[in-house]
Amino acid sequence: MQQQVIISVKDLVKNYGDFQAVKGISFDVYEGEIFGLLGPNGAGKSTTLEIIETLRQKTSGKVLVGGFDLDKEPNSIKEIIGVQLQTSGYYPGLNLIELLELFAGLYNEHIHPLEFLDKVNLRDKAKAKYKELSGGQKQRFSIATTLINKPKIIFLDEPTTGLDPQARRNLWDLVQDIRSQGTTVIITTHYMDEAEKLCDRVAIIDSGKIIALSSPDQLIDNLIAGGFERPKEVKSANLEDVFLHLTGKTLREE
Ligand code: ADP
Repeated sequence: MQQQVIISVKDLVKNYGDFQAVKGISFDVYEGEIFGLLGPNGAGKSTTLEIIETLRQKTSGKVLVGGFDLDKEPNSIKEIIGVQLQTSGYYPGLNLIELLELFAGLYNEHIHPLEFLDKVNLRDKAKAKYKELSGGQKQRFSIATTLINKPKIIFLDEPTTGLDPQARRNLWDLVQDIRSQGTTVIITTHYMDEAEKLCDRVAIIDSGKIIALSSPDQLIDNLIAGGFERPKEVKSANLEDVFLHLTGKTLREE
């Protein structure tokens, strides 16, 4: 099957004064894939994503999103992407239905809030305020808000940071679910097991440059082919397996 490019980044540069945070990176994202952007803190991931999301000015380079040129049609790009809002944007006094209606109004969309809450398994919390949700529920709600304008692409910035193992797995299921409905997902994470499980391809960024870009499987095979060998693991389970075995896989926060 021919893969369609949905995001194309060419020679992207971002300078903050004298400091070059993004040093001429190029990559493509294919339609319908889960694409991971990995790298240590300060590598330039957020800068890159925010430029693609039209939220930050680039210094130079070319960016196409869904065929639209960032320089010429940023508003068309905004219409086809979904971005997680900063949690500070959630009015504390409103419940989840009211918040969804508010965001839908901002996008000029007419939605059925309960259908959106169903998508992220939060119908039970329809009348709860955002601040009353658990960490996993907050993340799921914030993912629901990215879907309001029926985007072709959603951007998730470290959606599982700080979540317990059950809530993380639940979020992986949600992301896979969203992708299976045809939405392209760009995600950043510091959890390599998560990237390995979720992402079709990952770009590893370090100091403003892409130092690897491939499927997790291929990157691992390349490392092994280069002679790398992990110190032998004598146990066929780890502490996370113990934790999940003892506490079960069901969510506790509900
Ligand atoms: P990451 O998301 O990978 O942690 P960032 O894109 O946030 O990386 O930051 C990349 C580099 O650019 C860092 O060194 C950071 O300090 C710097 N940086 C980010 N935003 C600004 C800014 N507004 N002004 C100056 N430097 C910035």
